[in-house]
Amino acid sequence: MVGERLLPAAGPAAPGGVTLCRVGERLSCGACCGLYNRTGVSRAGLEELLGRRTARFRGVPRTAEAIDAYAREEERREPGRPRFAEVYRCPFLGFTGKGGDIPGCLLHPQSEGNGGVDYRGLSFYGGLACRDYFCPAHRTLKAPWKRILRAAAADWYAYGVLVTEHRLLGLFFAEGEARLGRALEEEDEEAALPAFRAFAALALDWPWRDPGHPGPGRDPFDDGTRRPPGDAPGPAGFCRSPFAPFFRELGSRFASPGDRDAAERCLDESLSRLAAAVRRALDAP
Ligand code: SF4
Ligand code: SF4
Repeated sequence: MVGERLLPAAGPAAPGGVTLCRVGERLSCGACCGLYNRTGVSRAGLEELLGRRTARFRGVPRTAEAIDAYAREEERREPGRPRFAEVYRCPFLGFTGKGGDIPGCLLHPQSEGNGGVDYRGLSFYGGLACRDYFCPAHRTLKAPWKRILRAAAADWYAYGVLVTEHRLLGLFFAEGEARLGRALEEEDEEAALPAFRAFAALALDWPWRDPGHPGPGRDPFDDGTRRPPGDAPGPAGFCRSPFAPFFRELGSRFASPGDRDAAERCLDESLSRLAAAVRRALDAP
């Protein structure tokens, strides 16, 4: 889970050789540790939560009893209701990294105060799962797609949310490749970045989101068998659109056919932009 596999005490290699959990000291994801599994908690609220846990855990003696007592107390203080009942909100997710400003596991052997000892065996999921788990995004996104996702991300908050949206990202890249007429390769990645950034911004702030939809971010363990709430098809005509799979993932609802047409145009432009940018880069002298 979060931040584990880029550190020297690494577990198994990530599928495709590209990990999403941590990108050096710049980015990390804590989605499967339950970071986003709460309703009504803003980014500022998450920062406050991670900062508080980190500060509290600093003073916790590294004994099983004290660590367990810390966890029980943090569980009691959890803000917001869980959004996904089956996803545990691990109280050991705090801030780590050289700058102490990206999500990370407070029980990791390299986290502050642990003296190289791996305490993850004391967690809800246990040491093995925390070391070896790879979420669906790792398995379903191709290596170039994952590298583009990592390179495009401006901050950990949006990055972790997008990691959980692997089905939407898969749709975008697969359709982009179809328009390009071939698979994206490593040499295309830089050219693809601006188009992907624009798509990510659109997806995170989708103008046609159903007001009843909980917003971006999915069950981080969802591999297609666990449909989260808010995925109901939209009004009549929705399913006939060639972009219906996108609309579903984006939690769309359209007030009129004109609205739907505008959303289609937006996605169409976004996908064409990706293909055109990659082609242009190849044609450049
Ligand atoms: S959700 Fe995926 S990328 Fe994020 S920490 Fe878990 S395994 Fe890593
Ligand atoms: S102990 Fe908690 S924070 Fe650490 S990797 Fe496991 S689930 Fe994530």
